[in-house]
Amino acid sequence: MKFIFVTGGVLSGLGKGITASSIGKLLKCRGLKVSSIKIDPYLNIDAGTMNPFEHGEVYVLDDGGEVDLDLGNYERFLDISLTSDHNITTGKVYQAVIEKERRGDYLGKTVQIIPHITNEIKDRITRVARESNADVTIVELGGTVGDIESMPFLEAARQLSVEIGREENCIFVHTTLVPILSSVGEQKTKPTQHSVKELMALGIKPDVIVGRSPTMLEDNIKSKISLFCDVPQEAVLSAPDARSIYEVPVILEKQKVSDFLVRKLKLKALAKEIDLSEWQVFLERVLDPHREVRISIVGKYTELADSYLSHLEALTHAGAQENCRVNIDFVNSDRLLCEDPAKIFSNVHGILVPGGFGVRGVEGKMIAAHFAREQGIPFMGICLGFQVATVEIARNVLGLDTANSTEFDPLTLYPVIDLMPEQRNLCSMGATMRLGAQKVIIKEGSIAYSLYKSKEIWERHRHRFEVNPEYVERFERAGWHFTGTSEDGKRMEIGEFESHPYFLASQFHPEFKSRPGRPSPLHLGLVRAAIDLMESS
Ligand code: GLN
Repeated sequence: MKFIFVTGGVLSGLGKGITASSIGKLLKCRGLKVSSIKIDPYLNIDAGTMNPFEHGEVYVLDDGGEVDLDLGNYERFLDISLTSDHNITTGKVYQAVIEKERRGDYLGKTVQIIPHITNEIKDRITRVARESNADVTIVELGGTVGDIESMPFLEAARQLSVEIGREENCIFVHTTLVPILSSVGEQKTKPTQHSVKELMALGIKPDVIVGRSPTMLEDNIKSKISLFCDVPQEAVLSAPDARSIYEVPVILEKQKVSDFLVRKLKLKALAKEIDLSEWQVFLERVLDPHREVRISIVGKYTELADSYLSHLEALTHAGAQENCRVNIDFVNSDRLLCEDPAKIFSNVHGILVPGGFGVRGVEGKMIAAHFAREQGIPFMGICLGFQVATVEIARNVLGLDTANSTEFDPLTLYPVIDLMPEQRNLCSMGATMRLGAQKVIIKEGSIAYSLYKSKEIWERHRHRFEVNPEYVERFERAGWHFTGTSEDGKRMEIGEFESHPYFLASQFHPEFKSRPGRPSPLHLGLVRAAIDLMESS
């Protein structure tokens, strides 16, 4: 078992997750099997209850795990599917230890952070590494060295490194900030020195230091960091601001990072030379595409782009496929209540209404869907966006003027979106979420079929409400065709509005399975339709 622990110093938001994913990508390109674990030192059990506005989107895995968005980066960079065990939180660790204590598993001992919490952490890390059968497991420690919350995790990592073999089986990568002082225009190493000192005080000496700075680290700065922090100069890496996150593996590999890691971990890499050609082609199309479209994302967490991270990535993947830059226009849906949609959407070639919870912002999304449908603008609705499109069609095509989802109006006369039948007797907050990968059957001849090229797909879900089956026939007659359903045909999964270039929505979240080189089919459909509109106007 071999591990690469990635820690962060100085401040948060340095892009530790991207650095870690990029390192993983490079090792994968050397023919190694790589897995990853993200540690989040917060007390929440998982990200399911967290506000996207604070933490960015809640990422959903095949097994239904609701996890930190960094797991999305790992899945996209490494092209793997993870399970919720790959996201370890303080909440999960303490919950397990307290349950064991209540069962009497500790045989009357005093239960303490060391060794009981640290043992639980080590057990979880090693179990996941063993089960994923990887040559190397990357363990990213969220937070910043020095935070109280991350102490038990750092201590567990230290102990684990000693147990498995500090020299050959373990690497500590420390990501830090190398600021440039504008008054002198010089890169400063002091914050890095301090944060390495802090790490050393915890018994961890880093093997690799990644310096985040607006530009590449100067040679003399690399030597200085190497000298003061006692790492070889080849192990001091530059991570300058990149034009795209997908450029980071290329920047790191120019500094021969995979060679160093393979040598240090005594790995038997299948590939002597790294082959990044496919990635380069993709990157080229991300950085320098031939054309551009503009797509509006209409939501309520629009002030924080990370709230819709997987959509942004899926649109990047789809754009790259079509050699097209997808510029994003975030629109706070409440604006649509008081401003003219024709003005708000005057320069856009597509509208996306993503998922969401709660009534705030919903009527604005309804206006966006209505505008897109009537004006022939390519439209994609995801999860709540699908439900919004369905309600809009009920109101304006079926003439059920007060139709709604019971999530927003529990007493509506026309509950076209309702809790799943098996949950109807529960109040909405008591209902459980339908989570994770579920099978969807697609009708041949539909637009969805032409995009997925398959009658049977698996996509990830996260919802409590769905189309009320009692209204399905009426919708179909009105041109809102459900071209994707659950296997028993009872749950509506995809809707396509007829006589419209592209008005398509899904109950599931295709954005979570989108990958570089293999974009989400529905995002691809939206981008293609947007290009058609752009080229015809
Ligand atoms: N709030 C809706 C539901 O629970 C949609 C959820 C979502 O968009 N993820 O069904």
